Amino acid sequence: MKILFIASEGLPYSKTGGLADVIQALPKALVASGHEVAVVLPHYRGTRTAATAASSLTIPIGNGLRFPSIADGSVVDGVRYFFIEDPQYFDRAQLYGENGRDYPDNAERFGLFSRASIELAKQIWRPDVIHCHDWQASLVPVLLRTQYSGDPAFLGVPVVLTVHNLGYQGIFGRDALARLGLPETLFHVDALEFYGKVNLLKGGLLFSDYLTTVSRKYAQEIQTVEYGHGLDGVIRLRAADLAGILNGVDYSMWSPENDALIARKYSANDLAGKAACKSDLLDQLKLPAANLKRPVVGILSRFADQKGFDLIAQMAVDLLKEDVCLAVLGTGEPKYESMFQALAEREPDRVGVRLGFDNVLAHKIEAGSDMFLMPSRYEPCGLNQIYSLRYGTVPVVRATGGLDDTIEAFDARTGAGTGFKFQEYDAKELVATLRQAIKVYRDAPLWRKLMANGMAKDFSWAASAAEYTRLYKRAWESRAKVLAESQMQGSVPANRKIAPNI
Ligand code: ADP
Repeated sequence: MKILFIASEGLPYSKTGGLADVIQALPKALVASGHEVAVVLPHYRGTRTAATAASSLTIPIGNGLRFPSIADGSVVDGVRYFFIEDPQYFDRAQLYGENGRDYPDNAERFGLFSRASIELAKQIWRPDVIHCHDWQASLVPVLLRTQYSGDPAFLGVPVVLTVHNLGYQGIFGRDALARLGLPETLFHVDALEFYGKVNLLKGGLLFSDYLTTVSRKYAQEIQTVEYGHGLDGVIRLRAADLAGILNGVDYSMWSPENDALIARKYSANDLAGKAACKSDLLDQLKLPAANLKRPVVGILSRFADQKGFDLIAQMAVDLLKEDVCLAVLGTGEPKYESMFQALAEREPDRVGVRLGFDNVLAHKIEAGSDMFLMPSRYEPCGLNQIYSLRYGTVPVVRATGGLDDTIEAFDARTGAGTGFKFQEYDAKELVATLRQAIKVYRDAPLWRKLMANGMAKDFSWAASAAEYTRLYKRAWESRAKVLAESQMQGSVPANRKIAPNI
């Protein structure tokens, strides 16, 4: 099959979070299983491209027209890359915003990206299935089933939308409709209208043929008020077409046997290199070697409320009463950046903090820490805890979403399990769970058993890619059936799987 991925970030070109890892690894795994895959991304600052595939498209935005071009990137790992070029929109310091603020024209930026991606699918690279990701690509299914609904190029092409994080929906004022060149009829509670505003992800959820999210547990959770971010009703409406497919890991990049970025490689059979990595991590963060005796707790994350940093703020003083060392890398909300800086000033010998985005240090934290802390309020999948398992770095997590699906609670009596988890979003539970982990850490043979359990787990992409393949086939067949039925009846096919037709 020919599958077109439409996403706002993807390695090796752009990254702010786990989406970029997935947009690199899943296409690669699909190509390995025999599919043809192309990925279309915005052409951000610093991306190098090979050739021009289309020099000028005509895209309505605001009161006028814009003329983006499409660059043909190279083929990487068998995956073809295209880039939508509009320097005024994408040649900026960051991807989505600066200094904690979104760019004010994000609706237009990703509206243009979506429309240009549709033109790519029509004029340059015709797919069998279109796979969109998150709110930034959610206008694609909306446009295909409304403004493009009569276009024979797309009648038989199903759209799958993956929600990587329901907390980010692309919500804009009502006037965004006109700016995006969309008709007022879409300002409807059964379409894009959301409490008086325009919600692009809602449009994607209603107009796509199939939906997926990135773990089974999160697929259940987002159907509840607690985790639904106001869209739980819409998700329940689409529950029959929603699948939870766990993200995998690209072990060619994230495993201590292969990792070229860490101080010394190691494996489950020979852990000697892990001590060297711990020592290197302490050096990187200017922490004294006395910490080699202590458990080093790694934190590596976007600093957002979602990730549980308010719990860490509440319990930091209690945690530091224990004989532990913290190794922190992250960037994001200023309040959490100052919190970690204050902790490092208070305990300079036991708390090392680096603010910023640093892929090399990210790998060093995975390899050099003893534990990895991820107390998220919610977590669609989470990648770092899965990476940690392979590095023998024991995850301490809150039992939510993908964290719950990927980490098995350790039972000291039977020796089974891969990490530590707590249920309630509560600072006391977090401290108690960390104390439990520290107690096991002091029992070296038991800790080695726990590390070995995690290192033996296999979360490679092959199984998840096979699940996506089954879904693409089902989507393609169901779309073909709808078309055949409408042709027999001589009618126009319904523009979406749920009523009403908008
Ligand atoms: P999310 O996508 O919600 O940020 P995930 O756990 O799914 O969380 O993925 C986060 C990805 O981003 C991981 O690959 C992680 O290593 C990386 N990452 C997060 N923060 C940083 C940072 N400050 N520097 C380098 N890599 C980071």
